[in-house]
Amino acid sequence: MSITAFLQTRYGRGLRSRAEIEAHQSRAMARFRRRIMPRSPFYQDHIDTPLHALPRMDKARLMESFTAINTCGIDREEAFEVALEAERSRDFSPMIGRVGVGLSTGTSGQRGLFLTTPRERRLWAAIMSGRFWPDLRRRQRVAFFMRADNALYRSLSNPLLRFEFFDVTQGMDAHLQGLGDFDPTVLIAPAGVLSFLARAQSEGRLAVQPQRVVSVAESLGPSDRAAIARAFRTQVDEVYQATEGVLAFTCPAGNLHLNEAWMRIERDLVDPASGAFCPVIHDFTRESLPLLNYRLNDVLVPDAAPCPCGSACARIARIEGREDDMLWWTGPDGPRLIPAEAIRTMLASLDEAVGDYRVVQHADALTISLEQVGPDTEAALRARVSELARQFRVAPPPLVVREGLPPDSGFKRRRIRVATDQMSLAEDRRSA
Ligand SMILES: [Zn+2]
Repeated sequence: MSITAFLQTRYGRGLRSRAEIEAHQSRAMARFRRRIMPRSPFYQDHIDTPLHALPRMDKARLMESFTAINTCGIDREEAFEVALEAERSRDFSPMIGRVGVGLSTGTSGQRGLFLTTPRERRLWAAIMSGRFWPDLRRRQRVAFFMRADNALYRSLSNPLLRFEFFDVTQGMDAHLQGLGDFDPTVLIAPAGVLSFLARAQSEGRLAVQPQRVVSVAESLGPSDRAAIARAFRTQVDEVYQATEGVLAFTCPAGNLHLNEAWMRIERDLVDPASGAFCPVIHDFTRESLPLLNYRLNDVLVPDAAPCPCGSACARIARIEGREDDMLWWTGPDGPRLIPAEAIRTMLASLDEAVGDYRVVQHADALTISLEQVGPDTEAALRARVSELARQFRVAPPPLVVREGLPPDSGFKRRRIRVATDQMSLAEDRRSA
């Protein structure tokens, strides 16, 4: 573990002003240009290129040029082989030399490779434990629910930290006993898994008392957050982490901040009305697989209010979801982004209990599937959708209400999404 990074995260005063952030980032970026970029065949001719003039990257382009971009001399096909073999055998120690190889899921079905050097693993472990370790005097037991184990996560283990990996592909019910026996002090899992565990805990099928509960890998809605906090009687922290690294995590005041100490994050505005943007990142801590001028397709909603914790790193009100899953309804002023939050609030405000839900936009029509549909649910829902449309000055979409949830496809739960054959909607809007 990197002791300096650990101490800085735990006790450091952090970046207290925009000027401090700028100064820190330009120093770090200059170092990155000097030390890391020359080792990348792809970037070695770009050492003096301004960030915005570097080739624009996304997951597909990164994978395409993986062999040339990485600084470890690792061939893409070899890395895929190693990672896939690890998935097949569910033996998660895929390494090429000292470099860990991981495979990301991605809801779009496109799989991304990532690499971690020992230094990157130490840094990650330092930040995570610096921020989320409950009590340094006590030995901690960390339960970690993930799709795939990885050398990155193993790096958390040390004499003071027992680390147990729970494989979410193995059926969750089977883990309840094991988790109870392990009795974690820190529980880290995707939001959907935390919701499942919170339900089990409320129903008495699980009895654990973690001091820290950390949601990773999926965005966490406010009602889920509240239910999880209630079940475990502790606040729920959030780490917004993708293959692309740790983009944001909650501060001691419970608010999400962009990780501007590690990367420069620019905003590609998608909705001027709310300030919602897709982040474009320049990561100056990533040495194995440089991420520069890299655009993510997640939509984040900023929060301009200063945070009581004192950090000047930009605050995020919420992670809205994937860009492809944004609902755009059209009105006289053109298409407007309907926040997932507004849909959630609308469903939560119904008088009849509806249970869990899925909302799918398909072409212009909206299908809302509910666990339970009461006699008045559909009429109430129609009225609410019209009300919502009025509020955003758009036309309400044709609505279909169904009882029963469709099966979730893929590993990540998406309660609100746009049907895949309509992926071009976002593109149409841009070119409009
Ligand atoms: Zn804060």
